[in-house]
Amino acid sequence: MDIKALKALLAERGEPAYRLAQAKRAFFVELGADWDSVTTYGKPLREACREAIPWNTLKEVKTIVSPQGDTVKTLFECADGQKIEAVLMRHDDGRNTVCASSQVGCAMACAFCATGTMGLKRNLSIPEIVEQVIHFSRFLKPTKEYVTNLVMMGMGEPFHNYDNVIAALKQLNDKDGLNLGARHMSISTCGIVPGILKLADEPLQVNLAISIHAGTDEVRDKFMPVNKAYPLAKLMDAVHVYMKKTNRKVMFEYLLLKGINDHKSDANALARLLAHDHRLSHVNVIKYHPTEAFDPTAREERIAFVEWLEERGISATHRVTFGEDIDAACGQLAVQEENGLVKQGLDAVRAKRVRSNV
Ligand code: SAH
Repeated sequence: MDIKALKALLAERGEPAYRLAQAKRAFFVELGADWDSVTTYGKPLREACREAIPWNTLKEVKTIVSPQGDTVKTLFECADGQKIEAVLMRHDDGRNTVCASSQVGCAMACAFCATGTMGLKRNLSIPEIVEQVIHFSRFLKPTKEYVTNLVMMGMGEPFHNYDNVIAALKQLNDKDGLNLGARHMSISTCGIVPGILKLADEPLQVNLAISIHAGTDEVRDKFMPVNKAYPLAKLMDAVHVYMKKTNRKVMFEYLLLKGINDHKSDANALARLLAHDHRLSHVNVIKYHPTEAFDPTAREERIAFVEWLEERGISATHRVTFGEDIDAACGQLAVQEENGLVKQGLDAVRAKRVRSNV
């Protein structure tokens, strides 16, 4: 729901201020299905709203649950026909994390990322970002569960859509709405320096994650074109500023690509890069979900990589991976341009599920 448009409509009609809170309550707290759920509105107001403001801007096209039931992926259609995806990850410890998209496609063209192959179509609007989370809140409602965490790690580069991403997170954080804690929300960037500096001054205290993936420019240049504009020295300067201003921990994501960035010397380079800020740094080592571009690093070497970092005083963990079996893992949210291709992708997923059930 477009809250800004609703606010304008209510003002235009001379409605009292509490009318906005009533609709927000029906949408974010009661998780109603349509305008009929705003029972506090009289019929004429409800009809006027229904006429002017869609309750949902996103249409659910398809939802797939992984065979283990811990990952749920939804494909949505936007009003202009563009397709986006979001994922719900259900952790053992009770956390329900939504991985949401910020753009249709992405301009960054990281060589290992499936979304990168699509190019950028457009930014998502505030309601389009918010509704990915609301969709999963509704999904969990029958079992009285909640979305507890949000990571902006789906399709797109969040800092290329900074204003809408922050506005969406603020709506989700609103005490009278979903009331999702800022500390339970993370924005992941490939290293857009102006975005990092802006976030450092943001009143909303969300977490920052940086897709670092290399400890030297020589290695990073091989697969992240963004490193030309913002090489590691510039990136780390921005990170220092962010840490100094916020005193908050930064998560560094490190995707292991066989023979490219997984050698002991790569761990050393990363440890050197982070040594100065080790107190506020944490490395999350990620298993590469193959997209044809590279080969994944084997399990033993992934374990060794984390140990090498720890030996050098850098706190590091392995990321728990979800949804590989339904193509919902990081970097695999490639929505194809044509409907046909989207269907084909989903058929492949279905075929996989059938196989895994045999
Ligand atoms: N553009 C943002 C957010 C989207 S990507 C960013 O770059 O951080 C979210 C995470 O998934 C990033 O750390 C990204 O590097 C990682 N990722 C991309 N492709 C992947 C793949 N094939 N396997 C595993 N992780 C991948």
